[in-house]
Formats: sequence, structure tokens, C-alpha cells
Amino acid sequence: MLGDQLNRRIGALGAAQPGEARVLLVESATKLRSKRFHRQRLHVVLASMRNLAAELRHEGFEVDHRRSSSLAEGLAEHRAAYRPGSVRASEPLSWDAERLITGLDVQLVPSDQFLCHRDDFARWADAQGAKRLVMENFYRWQRRRLGYLMDGDEPAGGRWNLDAENREPPPKGGRGPWPAPMTWPIDDIDRAVVADLPPTAFGRGPGPATRLWPTSRGEALDRLRHVVDEVLPHFGPHEDAILQEDWHLAHTLLSSSLNLGLLLPEEVCDAVEAAYRNGAVPLNSAEGLVRQIIGWREYVWGLYWRWMPAFRTRNELEATRPLPPAFTGQAPTAMRCVATALDGVEQRGWAHHIQRLMVLSNLSMMAGVRPNELVEWMWASFVDGSEWVMVPNVVGMGQHADGGSMATKPYAGGGAYINRMSDHCRRCRYDPRLRTGDDACPFTTLYWDFLDRHRERFAHNPRMVRQIRGLDRLGDLDGVRVRAAEVLGQLDRGRL
Ligand code: SF4
Repeated sequence: MLGDQLNRRIGALGAAQPGEARVLLVESATKLRSKRFHRQRLHVVLASMRNLAAELRHEGFEVDHRRSSSLAEGLAEHRAAYRPGSVRASEPLSWDAERLITGLDVQLVPSDQFLCHRDDFARWADAQGAKRLVMENFYRWQRRRLGYLMDGDEPAGGRWNLDAENREPPPKGGRGPWPAPMTWPIDDIDRAVVADLPPTAFGRGPGPATRLWPTSRGEALDRLRHVVDEVLPHFGPHEDAILQEDWHLAHTLLSSSLNLGLLLPEEVCDAVEAAYRNGAVPLNSAEGLVRQIIGWREYVWGLYWRWMPAFRTRNELEATRPLPPAFTGQAPTAMRCVATALDGVEQRGWAHHIQRLMVLSNLSMMAGVRPNELVEWMWASFVDGSEWVMVPNVVGMGQHADGGSMATKPYAGGGAYINRMSDHCRRCRYDPRLRTGDDACPFTTLYWDFLDRHRERFAHNPRMVRQIRGLDRLGDLDGVRVRAAEVLGQLDRGRL
């Protein structure tokens, strides 16, 4: 079992019984040191593996849980020690892991960790013919075939998409009914994992008394119950808002559990469906979460497999800038929105989707940061990070580096968007209304400079016509270019 397939009910382990199969789990030193991982990212993987090993032993399985220099070495050691007749594994969740495993004489069992297997996605994509692979079409296809939030052939409530009700700015005064996330006491497994983390890890570790991220199936199910009972009724309207003093709002914080396999997507959707049918949550909240799970999450999963390996190296906007030093803790930043998002990464290995897309990713795209550097950083820095998550979300969605295969227009926004959706700007050293001068918001300056630099490309995009017309109306474009050059130099030097 690999470290992101940690569920007794899926893949190769799904049909296995104690006495019939021995379970191998490998903690690979090479993998742990392959990136500058966040401590809580490594912690959640290692503690979840160790908890699962204990649960399987309790069930009666013989478990070979070993630490080795690499996965291949661990398997070779296992074969030498036990001489198994055959070795089976679930289809890995990443391109490189699949290449590795298939070269090790391992029989692959289809993965049922997603509701849409990548072969099913390929069939859906092929059926689109020459049409774009539009998320909304995929989502409706998923709703129909899986039956979530459906009344017969029609969507519950008569509409497929209630996004328009879920884009509200922060509530006045910034306070909302945002329930505190569940936490769990630090136990002996946590303490042992903390002691084993490599020196290359960064960020705050869990604890000292409690931990935020589930590391066992039971904890993941506890979080799901809490989310459905307490959080989901408030999820939805403010899901795109950002608040200085409240990092979680009504976000579910289920992504790390889903991406490690502790929780399965159908378990989340079944619980959401039941809560909606019981009248416990409004439709816009239920639909918003079901869309995240069976829509966006499974869509990026399918696209990853369809477009790899070329997908991860695409760089259509020819970005050449290195990752800003502020992202790796080598410099502070006065940009309040960026500093808050980076503080969330440092504290807990997490930032919500708008902080990822419209703050960190948006800044990187407009500044021209190399997409693969951002992929690597997000993959290593977030508790829910993995390649299948980050390549589509960063290369496709965030950086427009796929030339528009995923999103028809770049997700670029100036300070006005962040000002509308957050409470950051009024406490920031920069002014979101200004595009030139020392006090100009870097997002606002870079937004116009980005459009200017890529004018030729975007002039032919019907969805960018309004923005290019706005660019043409600017009377101070030369001043914007001058200020943008200053901003980019300061970003590179960690002085912004
Ligand atoms: Fe971010 Fe600009 Fe607002 Fe400052 S003014 S918080 S840099 S968007």
C-alpha cells in the first residue's frame, strides 16, 4: 500500500482477508527527503500509515511496515524476507509511482479511490469529440450517473449550479458562524513521527497538545460528521471570502483525508445528500460541496491522467521567474494578502482555494513565475498536496500555462478583486486602487502589466476582449510599465 491509498476498503486491500495476504507499507527515506516538505504534510502521511498498520494488525493481518532507503528497496527487502508468491498493489495515484511500480513485477489492481476511474474519464472525454473538456459538463454527467442531488433526471431545486449564491464577500464586521475545527490530542504515534521527521522539513509541526489534521480513518470520519452537522449549514455563501482573523471560515478541511484515502468521496457525498434531504443544510451549501468533490476534484484527477506527462512541463506563457523568496520564508512581505496566506501555510500547511488561486497563484502568474516551481512548492507545502492535485490546479487553472486547455481565460485579478473578497487591503501598506507610484498595490500594477505583456495572445480571446479594451483606455500605461519593473525587481529581492 502506498502512502496515499490508506484505506482498508479500496483497491488491492479491498477484498483481502487476514491470513490470505500480508500487507507491506514502506516509509521511503528518498521520498521523505525528495522535497522541502511541510512538517504537517509529512506528519499526516507517516502517522496515517502507522495508524493503519496498527488497525490492520488488530484485524488480524500480518503487516510488514518497514523503513527503507526507497520504495523499490523496501519491496526488495520484503521479497527477500518473505518470498511472497505474488505482489499486488492498487493503481498508484501518480504518474511516476505507476512507472516505478510497473517496473517492479507488481500486479496492479484497479483503483476505486475516485468515483470516476481514469478510464471512465477517458471515455467521457473521448465522447466530447472536438469540444473542450468543460468542467460543468463533466460535473452534470457525474451528477446524473451517480445520482447525487437529483430528483429523477433533473437537478434538485431545478438548477445544476448555485455558484452565484456562493460568491459573497465577507460578512460585515468579519464575523460569521464559523465553527472551530475539530482537533485531536497528540498521542504516542504522533510523538514518534515528530522525532522521525527529516531535517529538511519546514513549517510548524503539529501540537504540542493537539493536532488539526486527521491521521486515522476514525478521525477522518469524526471530522466528516462534525463538518456535516456543524459546518456545512454555513458552507457556501462565503466560500470565496478571505478573513484576516478567521483562517477556516466554513471550509470543510476534508482534503487531506480524501487525498490520503482516509475518507472516500462517496462517504462525503452520501452524508451531504442525507443532510440536504433531512433539511439540515440549504441546497446552495450541499451543491457547493458536491461540486467540489464529484465535479472539480474528479475533473482534475481525470485531466491529470489524460494529459500527463506533457501536462506538468507546459509553460505556454513562457514564464521564467524563480519562485519569490517570500514563498519559501527567505524574506518577509508587506503584501497583507500574501503574508496571511503564507502564514497559513507556515502554521498549518493549508490555505483555502481562493488564497491559493487568487492570491498566491495569481501573483505568480502575473509576475511570470515558472509554473513547475509553483507546482513543486505547493505540492510540498500543503497537507493535501500531490502531483495529480497540483499540476492541473497550477499549470492549468492557476497559471494558464496549458494555453487555455482547461480554463478559457487566465485567472488574473488586480487588487480590486482581493479588496472586495477580503478584509486585508484596508490594513495593507499598499492601496488596491493605485497602479502607479510607491503605494500602488502590486496586484493592480501587475494585472495591467500582465495584460500588456500578453496583449497579442489575449487580443484573440473573446473572453478577454473587455480586459484588453480596458488596457487600451489606460492613459498611464508607460507609468504602469515602470512601476511593474520596480515591483518585479522587489519581488525577486524579497523587498515587496
Ligand atoms: Fe493584497 Fe494589494 Fe490588498 Fe495589499 S492592497 S492586501 S497587496 S490586494
